[in-house]
Amino acid sequence: MLIIVCPYCGKRPEIEFSYGGQAHLARPARPSELDDAQWAEYLYMRNNTKGVYAERWRHSHGCGRFFNALRDTTTDHFLATYEVGAPQPAAPKPAAPRPAAPHPPDGSAP
Ligand SMILES: [Zn+2]
Repeated sequence: MLIIVCPYCGKRPEIEFSYGGQAHLARPARPSELDDAQWAEYLYMRNNTKGVYAERWRHSHGCGRFFNALRDTTTDHFLATYEVGAPQPAAPKPAAPRPAAPHPPDGSAP
């Protein structure tokens, strides 16, 4: 089971959390001044990052609070969690890839 660190409660199982989409989206200051395309851009268009992605999460079956997380979308590993309003931390350097298992020269399965 995936363990997620709530910045307020600590380590908890993933079933206690709800995904909330992309983090750090700022609502337009004057929505009435936007045309339909700009409003649709704000409402619906999100990044589709392969790699480290800043996301909003909610500890919905715990403290109920929202927080942000950096998650690597290729591995599903949470790299950091932090309170809403806190600056986005720098992404940790990715771990070096593991070397591939050597294949026997005769082509048989290892
Ligand atoms: Zn919590």
